[in-house]
Amino acid sequence: MDALDTTELMPAHASRLLALSPDLLGACDFDGRVSLHSPAWERTLARPGDAITGAAFRDLLHPEDRDEVAAALDALAAGGPAASFTARMGRPDGDHAWVLWSAQASPEDGCVYLAGKDITERMKLEDELHHRAQGLERANAELQEFAFIASHDLAEPLRMITSYLELLQRRYGGQLDETADEFIGFAVGGAERMRKLIDDLLAYSRVGSHELDRAAVDLAELVGHVLRALGPAIEESGAEVEVPDVLPAVHADPTQLGQLLQNLLANAVKFRAPDRPPRVRIGAEHDDGGVRLTVADNGIGIPDAHRDRIFKMFARLHGRDEYDGTGIGLALCRRIADRHGGRIWVESQLGDGSAFHVWIPAA
Ligand code: ADP
Repeated sequence: MDALDTTELMPAHASRLLALSPDLLGACDFDGRVSLHSPAWERTLARPGDAITGAAFRDLLHPEDRDEVAAALDALAAGGPAASFTARMGRPDGDHAWVLWSAQASPEDGCVYLAGKDITERMKLEDELHHRAQGLERANAELQEFAFIASHDLAEPLRMITSYLELLQRRYGGQLDETADEFIGFAVGGAERMRKLIDDLLAYSRVGSHELDRAAVDLAELVGHVLRALGPAIEESGAEVEVPDVLPAVHADPTQLGQLLQNLLANAVKFRAPDRPPRVRIGAEHDDGGVRLTVADNGIGIPDAHRDRIFKMFARLHGRDEYDGTGIGLALCRRIADRHGGRIWVESQLGDGSAFHVWIPAA
């Protein structure tokens, strides 16, 4: 059967509509020659109309895409269902346009109808985003490695400094004058603070580098474990910790969730008000397709202006002489929440306690 000349069959209003379309509308006969094309083809392919009409569709394609598209068109001509494919269309200047084609054969008209969307800009953007994401991933991995190596390698000389300082203290403490004892004490204190800082930095970098090992975590068991680890601090402060009888399961990495809870609970006890013993309430409930954990205290509270800042690395609202710490705990908590696809935030009233919430999505 001879292919129909679809151009001649077209009523004038259809032809005007075709001219208006930003998409590439047209048809190929069953030999793969373009029998009809809208003006959008000329713009996208940067070719004059007479270089398109009658041309083999295959020749308009980027050489690497020809076989795949030819196979798709053959399948259509053989009676296959409507298909969609993305192909690069060659331009005379050597560049190419990305086109997303939908195609359907019409045995009665003896052709394959084609509708194509020029997605060159989108593909360029995707490519750029992909490159940027790769660059960021690389930079992040390097930073991660740097943080780990730096903190790991710092720990070794520090152990040596600490043990010699302790030796000095043990062997010569009281034999030198009072000022010398005081100086040694400062040095021991400084080394101890540095050890805490290195430990916290290592914990922070590990959260980024380790694969998340998510499982159904028994919260009651985890909370019990964390409370035992904080036993001395809780006892010393006289804190009362309220834990609900029933806690939901959370789909999380148990080690990381334990670190998060431990940091929040330690802070709830540490930032207590001077005039009252700490009361801490732990809560967990299903919320918005996940579980929201809450650690609420009756401590000193947080000024409005600092509610976001405290989650940043090294951000502290008090001097070390008031409350000890490294300023890494909440940054670590936020990193753990982020890695789980969740979030962390605080509600607080200065002087009247804080409630830290962590939302972790379900599996
Ligand atoms: P650190 O506890 O080592 O100081 P964090 O990152 O855990 O560091 O906390 C950052 C700061 O946020 C703290 O120094 C403190 O000022 C504030 N903060 C954290 N938790 C509480 C809390 N429960 N009550 C009041 N302030 C808090």
